[in-house]
Amino acid sequence: MENINWSDLSFGYMKTDYNVRCYYRDGKWGELEVSSTDTINIHMAATCLHYGQEAFEGMKAFRGKDGKIRLFRMEDNAKRLQSSCDGIMMPQIPTEKFAEAVIKAVKLNERFIPPYESGASLYIRPLLIGISPQVGVSPAKEYLFIIFVTPVGPYFKAGFQNTNVVIYRQYDRAAPLGTGTYKVGGNYAASLVAGQRAHEEGYAAVLYLDAKEKKYIDECGPANFFGIRGNSYITPESTSILPSITNKSLIEIAKSMGMTIERRRVPEEEIATFEEAGECGTAAVISPIGRVDDPMEGKSYQISKTGKPGPVCTKLYNKLRAIQYGDEPDTFGWITVVE
Ligand SMILES: *Cc1c(COP(=O)(O)O)cnc(C)c1O
Repeated sequence: MENINWSDLSFGYMKTDYNVRCYYRDGKWGELEVSSTDTINIHMAATCLHYGQEAFEGMKAFRGKDGKIRLFRMEDNAKRLQSSCDGIMMPQIPTEKFAEAVIKAVKLNERFIPPYESGASLYIRPLLIGISPQVGVSPAKEYLFIIFVTPVGPYFKAGFQNTNVVIYRQYDRAAPLGTGTYKVGGNYAASLVAGQRAHEEGYAAVLYLDAKEKKYIDECGPANFFGIRGNSYITPESTSILPSITNKSLIEIAKSMGMTIERRRVPEEEIATFEEAGECGTAAVISPIGRVDDPMEGKSYQISKTGKPGPVCTKLYNKLRAIQYGDEPDTFGWITVVE
């Protein structure tokens, strides 16, 4: 692309050439369709608009030094979307159809995939919505699956950096036996007030505690949480966190580096013992956490003593990025090269 300043891109929407769509009608998925408009025309009584029948995914395509385009753990995104579909009564999109649609959307918009040197990437957003009208509360009969892509800049424009997060005891994101484990829009609507307030108060994200006891760490807004102590990678187990594919990958990498993995309930006080901590997700891979504040309890946990990301976070971050961009061999079988 001639006129895009790749390294200046933010995490925002830019129109690309095409999106890929697929309709579910009469109990089955149709053929993939290609569209060049970025709007959709749906019934005003569609269930996605009233009853929140909406699930989405987020993944990225990376251009390597070798010019090849790599997709990261696409099958895991397909499976997670299927789980979200089960969670809010939508039909699952089969893994093969999901993969075919992702590859089609990426190839058709190849000119928007940022060059290797920019540190930017192509964000891929699959979504699935209920589109047929329903006034009584029940699932739709018809669904639309869409994949659009948009180039996004490097998350850390000023280099890999610490961020601070905040615990707000007056808000919950998801109920213990609710929809927190599904990637659905409703969870995001429920997190907007707290998230906006955190930004206004100078924090990168809200660190949620478990909604029932307010004792254990859940997750960080749109990212999972992990702490590092000695040789251990510690990450919360909970019935209300979204299973992050980045977290799952960092766990595999940490294991391969000889670290011990602890996946269990993590009491808030344990933060005081962490030598490092981070938020992890597709957008940033790792956003290291410098400090956690808990204003209602008058507590503050200063994790970083140096003001800079710690050595373990840095190593994990570099390793995962190297696999994504093809700088290091993919010994885990995570990469699909788009031919
Ligand atoms: C998407 C998401 C994550 C991160 O998942 P990745 O697969 O690593 O991108 C974490 N928490 C929530 C609530 C999410 O929606």
